[in-house]
Amino acid sequence: MAMIRYVSTRGPGPSSRFLDVMMAGMAPDGGLYLPEIWPELDRNLFSHLSGLGYAEIAMHIIKPFVGEDLSDETLQHLLGKTYTSTTFNHSAMTPLIQAGPNAWIMELFHGPTFSFKDYALQFLGRLFDHVLGQRGQRITIVGATSGDTGSAAIEACRHCKNIDIFILHPQGRTSDIQRRQMTTVSAPNVFNIALAGTFDDCQGIVKALFADEAFRAEQHLSAVNSINWVRIMAQVVYYAVAAIALGGGERQVSFTVPTGNFGNIYAGWVARRMGVPIKNLVIASNRNDILTRFFESGDMRPEAVVPSLSPSMDIQVSSNFERYLCDLMGRDYAALARLMDSFKTQKAFHLSGELMQKARRDFRAYRCSDLNTLEIMKQCHQATGIMIDPHTAVGFHAAQQEIDKDPATPMVMMACAHPAKFPDSVRQATGMDPVMPAALAQLQGRAEKFIVLPRDLDKVRGYIRQSVKK
Ligand SMILES: *Cc1c(COP(=O)(O)O)cnc(C)c1O
Repeated sequence: MAMIRYVSTRGPGPSSRFLDVMMAGMAPDGGLYLPEIWPELDRNLFSHLSGLGYAEIAMHIIKPFVGEDLSDETLQHLLGKTYTSTTFNHSAMTPLIQAGPNAWIMELFHGPTFSFKDYALQFLGRLFDHVLGQRGQRITIVGATSGDTGSAAIEACRHCKNIDIFILHPQGRTSDIQRRQMTTVSAPNVFNIALAGTFDDCQGIVKALFADEAFRAEQHLSAVNSINWVRIMAQVVYYAVAAIALGGGERQVSFTVPTGNFGNIYAGWVARRMGVPIKNLVIASNRNDILTRFFESGDMRPEAVVPSLSPSMDIQVSSNFERYLCDLMGRDYAALARLMDSFKTQKAFHLSGELMQKARRDFRAYRCSDLNTLEIMKQCHQATGIMIDPHTAVGFHAAQQEIDKDPATPMVMMACAHPAKFPDSVRQATGMDPVMPAALAQLQGRAEKFIVLPRDLDKVRGYIRQSVKK
């Protein structure tokens, strides 16, 4: 097997190794890392994987991306420690629940913070800890969250001796429980910043901190947002797990994914690119529908973020779309760099012709209003007894339209958060309270620790400098 190397979406430059890509998060030129060449799975692999556990399947999917940077024993050990019933509260990790004649819910909320983010971040935290310990290094992680990434990242890093973690969340725009999951962690290496702004403002500041080379070097900055390749890589696993469970890896399966930063559904695209038999990948957006508008018109044009019932998707700039564009444009790195430049200066770009035709073959895209979100939550509960959270409902809404067009292909709807994280919406939709897991119920009444900062790069940079332990 050729040694896997990684390149930036903005220019092939000198290639990087897996562990350096993990450490850096974002490429120095502002682009995102991608494998130089996509690994392809052996067709015969799937029959071999049927019946194996999650950690064992993960080993086969992840190994080609890691190359020689970790020994098989180390990788197996880290995966085995991550994907167990002590970390996740279901022995299947990502159980599939039937929700219709040919439709399944994949529950991605059995981790410690009850969103799908745990599946990648629990692995990434352990990997960081292992590598930093071996190298005797210390890093500062800075991340932005629209709600769920923050708690999942904090949970993954709170016990790491060699990491300080700073999470920016948009003040007042996450749910009460989402905020408490972050701010009630009292570990001395955890810092919460409530930014007076939107998620895109938070993400903008994080990107600017990474673009500041002096600061980046001084603090050994690293990222755990889905701009970090390891997040995407670890999410590829459950697409394979679903395809193996429902079709033995022989039959095509479609997926609907509630989408914000395009990290989760992009992992589905990677799975298909590697040879996992996936038919349609369906993007489900709420009223912040920049991707749906893009697939309709070819125009990528952010509008103001409007708060919705599904706050983890209240995003107008989907960072990981750049990774997809890189392959859509046939790895023309220079052309992509120009496109991203014009996106930055003109706040828009346009694609047309063959590129758009190809993009529309790769993805379907739908939008869902808050009213429809509540309606679907109610319908789902009445028809199946299953309570779903508002993000999952946005996915259901899209999936129903796809199932009408293609009833013969099994549809997997990703349930990205536990309904108990959004009790107000669940109550409003169904008239009932979701069952609260004990870990969430305990958050009420605990002291919260966070600082409110204005939307000001200097202020955030100064706060990080002064807080990091020397
Ligand atoms: C993060 C998140 C999303 C969006 O996922 P992306 O990978 O950013 O597209 C959707 N739903 C929930 C519940 C989330 O936590």
